[in-house]
Amino acid sequence: MASSLFLHRQVTRHGCWVFSGVYRLLSRSTSANVVKHDLASFPQDTPTPEGKTEFSRAGIGGFFQQKPVLKNPFLEDALLQGYLRRHLPSKAVYSELLVFGERLVHEVDGWGRECETTPPTLVTYDAWGCRVDRIVTSPAWRRMKELSAQEGLVAIGYERTYGEWSRVYQMCKLYLFSPSSGLYSCPLAMTDGAAKVIQSLGVSGPTDEAFSRLTSRDPGYFWTSGQWMTERKGGSDVGSGTETVALPQSDGSYRLSGFKWFTSATDADMTLTLGRVADRDGRTTPGSRGLSLFYAPVRNQQGMVQGIEVQRLKDKLGTRQVPTAELLLDGLPAYRLSDEGRGVACIANMLTLTRIHNSVSAVAGMRRILQLARDYARHRSVFGKPLKSHPLHIQTLTRMEVETRGAFLLVMDICRLIGREETGQASQLDAHLLRLLTPVAKLYTGKQAIAVISEGLESFGGQGYIEDTGLPAMLRDAQVLSIWEGTTNVLSMGVLRCIARTSGLILQSYFTHTQSLIATDILPSLSGAVRSVDSALCGLKEFLQDAAVKPPGYLELAARDLAYSLARIYMGALLIDHASWKGASPSDAYAALRWCEQELCPVVNNAARGSYKTETFTQDAALVYEESTRQ
Ligand SMILES: Cc1cc2nc3c(=O)[nH]c(=O)nc-3n(C[C@H](O)[C@H](O)[C@H](O)COP(=O)(O)OP(=O)(O)OC[C@H]3O[C@@H](n4cnc5c(N)ncnc54)[C@H](O)[C@@H]3O)c2cc1C
Repeated sequence: MASSLFLHRQVTRHGCWVFSGVYRLLSRSTSANVVKHDLASFPQDTPTPEGKTEFSRAGIGGFFQQKPVLKNPFLEDALLQGYLRRHLPSKAVYSELLVFGERLVHEVDGWGRECETTPPTLVTYDAWGCRVDRIVTSPAWRRMKELSAQEGLVAIGYERTYGEWSRVYQMCKLYLFSPSSGLYSCPLAMTDGAAKVIQSLGVSGPTDEAFSRLTSRDPGYFWTSGQWMTERKGGSDVGSGTETVALPQSDGSYRLSGFKWFTSATDADMTLTLGRVADRDGRTTPGSRGLSLFYAPVRNQQGMVQGIEVQRLKDKLGTRQVPTAELLLDGLPAYRLSDEGRGVACIANMLTLTRIHNSVSAVAGMRRILQLARDYARHRSVFGKPLKSHPLHIQTLTRMEVETRGAFLLVMDICRLIGREETGQASQLDAHLLRLLTPVAKLYTGKQAIAVISEGLESFGGQGYIEDTGLPAMLRDAQVLSIWEGTTNVLSMGVLRCIARTSGLILQSYFTHTQSLIATDILPSLSGAVRSVDSALCGLKEFLQDAAVKPPGYLELAARDLAYSLARIYMGALLIDHASWKGASPSDAYAALRWCEQELCPVVNNAARGSYKTETFTQDAALVYEESTRQ
């Protein structure tokens, strides 16, 4: 191997003269077999009549692998098209997404790459020593903002042209956009969340203008919003982690002072944030009860930040396109949106939306890597045939495809539910499902995206690891999906809380609806899959009955497995339901079968193994913190 590389280098640089010299050298110092092997790996190297080889002519050899090509992501997505044909069969939607898909390929995807290669920078002082705290973003990032307004990527959710299906339409568009967006999907998520919060609290006073800007299609008027919750003491635990103090002003506004530890897309025009209102003596109420929600424009008329010092931009594993800053709030002018102490409850609407966006980005990343991987498998030949003709390679892609399909249907179902809620058509059951499944989808798809995209990188072999293919950035960016908007464990605990708060009613809705998805007009070929979902549901019910009489710590240890079980069972039911629709394809049925072959209810099996027993925590801790006793 080493000798063949050596040969290659010499031949490439100096042509056949050096080659034959090294060949003579090798002939003397190695066995004849080895030399023959080395020669065989360079079949093109037969000298031409002019005495040159193909390598010397081409400089670096004649073979270049065809790169994976992004094609119109809408046309490439059979499930997306099938889903829309079933639920939103509108010619206008079809043609808009078709045209948008073309725009993504020919225009936007290149900007997305530019956002990655030209990350934002912070200019703290101007040439004359004045503090300016300017976040400089790439032209591509700014074009993304214009495009987002023009394409109505936030506005669609509020115009509601398609009634209860408007959110589905909006999220389908974002799903196509997200992997090409250079992470502009991040500010859009927060912008959408902020608009939703303002709308739900009633648009009035200073938020009137903010709402119309956030939901505008006019690039010159459109605003984006930040969501500043995390402080140094806590992102998950904002109740005890928030130190920001809000000082009331005589005109009814506030001045905020504190330190925000993570603020993404800090080039935003406004933000929603949490703080504690101080009384006349400067005292604040501790815990979540002391938190209120504030709205703050970030910049003044001159475009300068006001009452803010940008301490630095974070140096991150991924999402490098997005400026994420640490901010000192030093008297930031703000308006209180919630009643005093109702901040956490009021920002919940924002989190619902940002978690849905997160899930959309997760499934979009999976779909994009698959589209590229399957294109590559057509053109990359190994062992005498294209990758797509190697059964084991196709099996690997199939597993990724099945994960992606399950995730897509779950996420779209949540978009369907929020669309129903926003148009006043949600039943109690819909409301329960939305509340339960939003964190479930966020936590599950975040993990799926990391796994699927990681596998996807491997499907390009070594090239999947090479930076300027653009592929590694996809994995880096996916890694954040399980962290921001709530980590996997924190959301799993949230699922438990939401079950407890409704005294289990939310679970009843889950069981009723999941059962109904697999109850009627099911394809006979899917009976095995139906049995799997059915038995997983029964197992889950029994588990929950048992868990109800266990010691308090039992469910806490089971929380993540429980959330995974809720996700997998529901995805199985959705896949079966979709495959049984009259317009479904045979692949839809096959995907449902394959999904339901896996362990659908891990919480039952782990309970049977004793994973959640009281002594488990002590044993786990002893294992994790074991120290070596060897000298
Ligand atoms: C790139 C990036 C951008 C971000 N942008 C923003 C932003 O714009 N605005 C914003 O407000 N925040 C932002 N964040 C912050 C992010 O939301 C938080 O980092 C995240 O919510 C986790 O909070 P934490 O860092 O305080 O971790 P911690 O809460 O300290 O968590 C540490 C670990 O403990 C686990 N854990 C915590 N509580 C429990 C529990 N009860 N049981 C079991 N395990 C638990 C967590 O799962 C995690 O694994 C961003 C983060 C990143 C990485």
